[in-house]
Amino acid sequence: MDNILYVADIVKNTIVDGEGFRTSLYLSGCDICCKDCHNKELWDIKSGKTMSVDEVYNKIIKYFTNITFIGGEPMMQASTLTLLAEKIKENTNKTIWIFSGHNYEEIINNENYFNLLKYCDVLVDGKFDKNYFENNLKFKGSSNQRIIDIQNSLNKNEVVLWEDEFNDELVI
Ligand code: SF4
Repeated sequence: MDNILYVADIVKNTIVDGEGFRTSLYLSGCDICCKDCHNKELWDIKSGKTMSVDEVYNKIIKYFTNITFIGGEPMMQASTLTLLAEKIKENTNKTIWIFSGHNYEEIINNENYFNLLKYCDVLVDGKFDKNYFENNLKFKGSSNQRIIDIQNSLNKNEVVLWEDEFNDELVI
């Protein structure tokens, strides 16, 4: 089912999954299985509702906000999500943030994951690790995770952190 995404939820107007107001696409399925995961109910990909790429696209672009792919593990559905990301980038000026338990280096060395990454703007990478948990981290759960400016990183061929990554405290 090449054109089908397993979707756990679509949340509009959230401010916790990236910069500004965003529409978050929660993908079901995770094969990373961090020990202290708070979303274990999403590990089974079949726990999500099936939606075609066009159905998801039509639903998420009607809001004025930018887009976030989160899970679960979005990379489990990388090839289908690439179709969605490509369509978003071709037809809108929305930014795409993506959260993954895989780190940047793993992603750029996996053709399937890399194809998706190329359409995204910011990556929050790495596994959630309770040992590195800190209160009030902005957009991430533990300090081992990085917020990466994808296009700058690809251009410079090295990891470039997103500009506000240095300002780690969540300001409410
Ligand atoms: S990558 Fe995310 S969803 Fe998957 S096990 Fe780790 S914390 Fe949970």
